[in-house]
Amino acid sequence: MTRFIFITGGVVSSLGKGLGSASLGALLQIRGYSVRLCKLDPYLNVDPGTMSPFQHGEVFVTDDGAETDLDFGHYERFTAVPAKATDNTTTGRIYTSVLARERKGEYLGATIQVIPHITNEIKDFIREKDGSADFVLCEIGGTVGDIESLPFLEAIRQFSNEVGHNNAVFIHVTLLPYIPAAGELKTKPTQHSVKELMSYGIRPDILLCRADREIDNDERRKIALFCNLDQEKVIPALDVSSIYEVPITYHAQGLDSQVLESFGMECARDIDLSVWEDIAQNIKAPEGEVSIAIVGKYTNLADSYKSLNEALIHGGISNKVKVNLKFIEAEIFESEDPEIHLAGVNGILVPGGFGDRGVEGKILAAKYAREKKIPYFGICYGMQMAVIEAARNLCDIAGAGSSEFTNCKTPIVGIMSEWIKGDSKETRSNDGDLGGTMRLGAYPAVLSKGSKVAEIYGSTNISERHRHRYEVNTNYIEQLERGGLKFSGMSPDGKLPEIVEYEDHPWFIGVQFHPELKSKPFDPHPLFISFISAAIDQGRLV
Ligand code: GLN
Repeated sequence: MTRFIFITGGVVSSLGKGLGSASLGALLQIRGYSVRLCKLDPYLNVDPGTMSPFQHGEVFVTDDGAETDLDFGHYERFTAVPAKATDNTTTGRIYTSVLARERKGEYLGATIQVIPHITNEIKDFIREKDGSADFVLCEIGGTVGDIESLPFLEAIRQFSNEVGHNNAVFIHVTLLPYIPAAGELKTKPTQHSVKELMSYGIRPDILLCRADREIDNDERRKIALFCNLDQEKVIPALDVSSIYEVPITYHAQGLDSQVLESFGMECARDIDLSVWEDIAQNIKAPEGEVSIAIVGKYTNLADSYKSLNEALIHGGISNKVKVNLKFIEAEIFESEDPEIHLAGVNGILVPGGFGDRGVEGKILAAKYAREKKIPYFGICYGMQMAVIEAARNLCDIAGAGSSEFTNCKTPIVGIMSEWIKGDSKETRSNDGDLGGTMRLGAYPAVLSKGSKVAEIYGSTNISERHRHRYEVNTNYIEQLERGGLKFSGMSPDGKLPEIVEYEDHPWFIGVQFHPELKSKPFDPHPLFISFISAAIDQGRLV
């Protein structure tokens, strides 16, 4: 039988509910339970696919092609359970499906209302997970008190009543702000937030209190008293230097045992946390450092490259080095010599991206890396830019570009109107919808024997996650290969280029997919291990 854990947030946003849920998932796994993590997002977008990374952080793509928010990245990185499209829903999706049914007449003339129709739809989403794991952890996006969260809170209240309190536990994540003038942490916002939650009929079983310093026993007692809880259920969640310490600190504060106790389950106090301790230790005491330039567009919001940053850290963990990231706005190379910004870096990475802005700068970054023999990792758009750079500078194809650029004369990268996914044919057109219409999710690729990537993967058959609209046009492969750029990975039918590399370069690899989405701290992605190792070698040469 599945037990449900609902995680809400109070006081302010960005308290790390996603990380908390992911860490609790990891702790329950260590205790031998299976977990599934899901998220209810109160915004009206159908999915985050069309939301700006500036506002919402990266879009995390699942194997089955769902565009979800970055919390799913945390879930996968901490638990290694592959997220599914059915693990995420939004207000937009819930309404879309209720309205579709209304149009079909499925409600037999009833007046369609938030309660019960919207709340029932939300409960169906949750109930559908029953039986899929020992514990389902369900995060409610947003902050308690937001108007748009209300139907979700009402739905989880009803749901817990239906499955019985022994099968549903509520965790509320709050903030204890430190007021310097008073010299103390303040508990009042937490008290108010819990009061608000109780006004919806939800009494939290556990409070996870974020604070930037030690929470003393008096403060815990006070919160416990006002919120109707045992003091042990008021769990300090202090800031830590690396997110991978979170499972260790939450366990030390008793989170997992209090959760099990809330379900009336027996549990041992000590568990083997060595996986997380080793990771934390490698991060704390690296044997060296490398610096990697990320030449991109969304460089002023670290969350827009969340998985990428983490995958680079993972590559560092496995090589026992600290990876210093230098974010560079690609546009700057259009007016300043790349040398000014790139001299001295040990590796250059051009990440995924969309649109026209900054493309010339990215192409120059690829050129600089190729000519100066600095390790280059091109991901998705970064691979396309490397191909365009080769077309222009090694094959003399004037005006080479992508159909994504305005007024591109020679699109080396263009729209693919048809391709095969599994047993079915997918089609796209230039004027189709932007949302949910890219090549999305896991696709297999076949690597050439003897290529660098085949050696790195230790295999010639791989599967990686995609999120892009355009493809390198295979008509140019012969010419580009003559110029020196090898196509070392292709879709099984040979129609879609997946990987390019130079043989006479220490490390220059472009991939059409997003390997960063599959990297875990305890299982770093081979391409990131190899890229960081090449960056270390590059550092030794200078
Ligand atoms: N904009 C490019 C495309 O749609 C690359 C997308 C990406 O980098 N994720 O093909």
